[in-house]
Amino acid sequence: MIKKDTNLGSQHEWLARLAYTEPGMEIGTEASTPETTRIMATIHKYGKLIKERDGDCYILDPENSSKEIMLILGNFKFPIIDKTELEMKRNIELWGYEDVMENIWFCHTPIYGKPCGLCHPCAVKIKSGMDFLLPKSALKRYGRKDKTPYNVIYKLKRRISQYFI
Ligand SMILES: [Zn+2]
Repeated sequence: MIKKDTNLGSQHEWLARLAYTEPGMEIGTEASTPETTRIMATIHKYGKLIKERDGDCYILDPENSSKEIMLILGNFKFPIIDKTELEMKRNIELWGYEDVMENIWFCHTPIYGKPCGLCHPCAVKIKSGMDFLLPKSALKRYGRKDKTPYNVIYKLKRRISQYFI
């Protein structure tokens, strides 16, 4: 029901299974509006975040969250959900982890092994000021995604890749 309602990414199903056996796993979702990311939309609609009692992470409040969202996200802790991507970017520069950022993976449908600029996670990165993570070709595609056949090609590629998961 939640997937149908919020279009939450398919990775959350197997992540939830993993967190069920390893409760307390941390998930690095940054702060954003429910309009921007599906995970925030899901939390906003079905649950409530509270700060854990003995730590700095946020967790879902079992008393104010639905049974369904507790199954999917209830075993996770959210350490950076009160920080925006740009705040995290500043922290990364402060801590000297820029080289790690070159190897992060977010794109659903990479083109020649690089972020596509067309999928939802690529759009979220661009909209939140993290466009330096995408190659110029992907930014160009993002700028033209509603005008060119890219949109159709992307949808086809996504449909095919979902078929094989
Ligand atoms: Zn992408």
